Amino acid sequence: MLNCQAPEAIKELILSARVLDGNKIRDEIKLELAAQIEELRRAGITPGLAAVLTGDNPASHIYVRNKVKMCAALGLHSEKIELPSETTTEQLLKVVEDLNRRDEIDGILVQLPLPPQVDAKRVLMAVDPAKDVDGFHPVNIGNLVSGRPGLVPCTPAGIIEILKRSEVPMKGARATVIGRSDIVGKPVAMLLLHQHATVTIAHSRTRDLPAVAREADILVAAIGKAALVTRDFIKPGATVIDVGINRVTTAEEVRQIFRDPAAPLAELAAKGSVLVGDVQPEDVKEIAGAYTPVPGGVGPLTIAMLMANTVRAARERRAVTSDK
Ligand code: NAD
Repeated sequence: MLNCQAPEAIKELILSARVLDGNKIRDEIKLELAAQIEELRRAGITPGLAAVLTGDNPASHIYVRNKVKMCAALGLHSEKIELPSETTTEQLLKVVEDLNRRDEIDGILVQLPLPPQVDAKRVLMAVDPAKDVDGFHPVNIGNLVSGRPGLVPCTPAGIIEILKRSEVPMKGARATVIGRSDIVGKPVAMLLLHQHATVTIAHSRTRDLPAVAREADILVAAIGKAALVTRDFIKPGATVIDVGINRVTTAEEVRQIFRDPAAPLAELAAKGSVLVGDVQPEDVKEIAGAYTPVPGGVGPLTIAMLMANTVRAARERRAVTSDK
């Protein structure tokens, strides 16, 4: 007997895009890293990460806490160096230089943003490129652009892992990256290019952004504006990678973004904010072929790739060659 609910259920099945589960991919990477860490341990090496946290930005504290927690879970050595908000550029440079000299430290992470009196570029430049697990040093940026081996920024590297492990074809695909930051937009565009995609970088001055985005088989949104990417930006069947982490704090915004706002409104009441990506969360399910959710998409990969970079830095700096 035909259930009168069936057409709706079938519609739902057809219209629902594949979810690219960042937590699952993060767990796969963690397993692979655990094997490499065990191999290093047998060679008497424990990779070490130092996180330098300056000032009292609450989000930075949470990020660093999560990074240290993941190090502990994987058996990596980690150190958190906390400095007051009034720290000067010279003091930070001294901390970085000490870490550069210490052999048991393989990765140095200077958590951004730095307080306004600090010359962030000078501090990032001071990190030994071999220990630059964030991949922000000009030497590593140069390696990335010229396709040479080097440490690659974590969020862009994580995006490529999601695409590869989800078997999203990149070769010959049209890819549009919205956002041109040094941390996400530019490096992910470069990595997509290395995967033989035809890449467009769009940004705040791009004319007719929805039309440019709609050309893309792979659309990466790294903007920092809640739900800016709506249905008119998405080519039917495209893969949409949502990098944005935006905190929506008013009921009015929640009602504008979510068609059924009951659950997010309850979250807002409980936590004071709702996490929303750069992509309209309901449009993407209906139009895209596959997408990363927020939370649970790109975010989990960022820390996993930081761990991967730390292990890689340890292997390369201490000249460990795999016997596999
Ligand atoms: P950013 O502010 O440095 O850069 C934003 C970019 O978006 C700029 O290049 C700008 O040109 C573009 N832009 C701004 N408004 C626009 C508009 N209206 N139309 C088109 N383009 C516009 O930000 P970022 O550091 O690249 O981060 C982007 C987002 O990704 C933020 O929400 C950030 O929190 C998030 N992020 C997430 C992770 C993660 O692990 N998931 C990591 C890094 C950043």
